[in-house]
Amino acid sequence: RLSQRLQSVADFVSKGARVADIGSDHAYLPAYLVQEGTIDFAVAGEVVEGPFNIAKNHINDINLHNKIDVRLANGLAAIEKDDQIDNIVIAGMGGILISEILDADIKKLKQVKRLILQPNNHEDTLRQWLDNQGFRIVDEKILLEAGKFYEIIVAEPTDCFTENSVSTDRKLSVKELIFGPKLLLDKSDIFCKKWEKERDTLNKILKRLPEEQVAKRVELQAKKQKIEEILK
Ligand code: SAM
Repeated sequence: RLSQRLQSVADFVSKGARVADIGSDHAYLPAYLVQEGTIDFAVAGEVVEGPFNIAKNHINDINLHNKIDVRLANGLAAIEKDDQIDNIVIAGMGGILISEILDADIKKLKQVKRLILQPNNHEDTLRQWLDNQGFRIVDEKILLEAGKFYEIIVAEPTDCFTENSVSTDRKLSVKELIFGPKLLLDKSDIFCKKWEKERDTLNKILKRLPEEQVAKRVELQAKKQKIEEILK
């Protein structure tokens, strides 16, 4: 059984998709998707040899090597044209690293229909990257597991991305970048919990921060104010 986090990621994969799971580690996610009959083909990309070997052995052991290709590769280099990948999953890494992986090989995204991303932090940086490149955030989910909050961002290319045309799309606001356009609409209990916790942390930091650190105080106050506005 998958963790709640990976299960939620899996739920966003389109039925019948050809999936690349980048940074697959143990390859649990593609194995689950094939076993469930959601998909028929996946590439599991992993840049570190240890996890790559474990994943490869695991996929062989469960006899899925005809459907899941485990590849030792950096980022999107795992994807080859003939794979006809249309869903890319990148989960369990920092938001900045996810943006960098996507940015490093952006041409490979031209045939992709859906990105399912689960950044562990810096969600705003990742949303900004998606927005700048012409991806639209079509769905989001926030969950709490073992005391940690996780956000999942699902994005699809707009014509701006696929045809390189000038953006006429509405751009995300600063609030949407920070809190997530879909999560903001929903304002679920878990969402509120996450941002209440963040606000409490900021309060604690501000309490300890010397008065003379004016710039830092202004920055943290502004952050706190944004949180308080959306929690109202
Ligand atoms: N995706 C799995 C999940 O969500 O449970 C595994 C997450 S694990 C914390 C992150 C994995 O990404 C590690 O196995 C790491 O080696 C791999 N990784 C980091 N940078 C990578 C890159 N540039 N290309 C491929 N894999 C990468």
